[in-house]
Amino acid sequence: MLIDNHNRKINYLRLAVTDRCNLRCNYCMPSEGINFAKKDKLLTIGELTKVGDILIEMGIDKIRITGGEPFVRKDLMVLLRNLKKNTGLKELSITTNATLIGPHIDELKELGIKDVNVSMDAINKATFERITRRDHYDIVHNNLIRLITEGFNVRINFIVLDNQNVQDIIPILDLQKHYPVSVRFLEEMPFNGGSKKFNEIKWDYKAILSHIRNTFPSIELIPSPKTSTSINYKIRGHKGNFGLIPSFSRTFCGSCNRLRITALGDVITCLYGPPKMNLREIIRGNSADDNIENAVRDVVGKRAITGFEAQKEHKGVFDNSMTSIGG
Ligand code: SAM
Repeated sequence: MLIDNHNRKINYLRLAVTDRCNLRCNYCMPSEGINFAKKDKLLTIGELTKVGDILIEMGIDKIRITGGEPFVRKDLMVLLRNLKKNTGLKELSITTNATLIGPHIDELKELGIKDVNVSMDAINKATFERITRRDHYDIVHNNLIRLITEGFNVRINFIVLDNQNVQDIIPILDLQKHYPVSVRFLEEMPFNGGSKKFNEIKWDYKAILSHIRNTFPSIELIPSPKTSTSINYKIRGHKGNFGLIPSFSRTFCGSCNRLRITALGDVITCLYGPPKMNLREIIRGNSADDNIENAVRDVVGKRAITGFEAQKEHKGVFDNSMTSIGG
């Protein structure tokens, strides 16, 4: 079992498979992109599988594949097949922008991968295309509806952006009215490749909730797992539900069970902190299994207690992008 220095059990790994993305969401990256990693700096599929297997042996039982956009990586399905073979893994899920998932839906189903988070920050086509700086709305919407109707457990992630998509908050709730999905509203975080700096946000989870309450006064709080980052609500008569994720307010650190590994092998013990070590050379060297285990235990034993504490380690400068961290 992996336990951190604040007695929190770490059983959830967010594993990024690439830092590249085919969208250019304006809150995530500058329009020209970031300085993407050279191919030899990325962990290979074999190395990603090995990292997964070692961490499962250490107590990780839930892995979410992220990126960049995971499906940009041509050999992604090989990794999913490999990880699925490990019987110690209870949950394997994916976070995607749903632009490229279409051809893989049948195989995902066959593999039993049912949990898919789709990032969609607008239900209006023009707004979506303005935010993502690409014209992929129709394919995203079609794939989203296909995933839902084919029985995937879909959660939609919507980052609330002042002056950009606030007018879509109520309309996107129509999805959870008609379909059994969860629409989760996230606070914007300062990981945008350095293109925009801020120390406070207008649309925190309380502001989002009160905006929704103006239209739906009788929303009901529903129970969530202890380690959940979202506060979840139901609107009577609606098939799905919605959630608020205080990703900037950071109200959930006390029950954090997560570890992040980037596509370059950086180990991140808190989203708001800098990487604590890199696994790439270790995994390419001798006695990789033991050395990785020791290194991971070491950094997990020195975790910041909250995201606010971890942020101090950046010395005030956030110039990284979520496309390299994985969200
Ligand atoms: N490409 C995949 C996707 O679109 O879901 C996975 C990677 S993406 C970096 C993971 C999540 O990070 C997405 O839901 C995205 O909206 C979110 N994200 C990126 N930049 C963010 C920011 N500045 N604040 C909050 N969330 C952000």
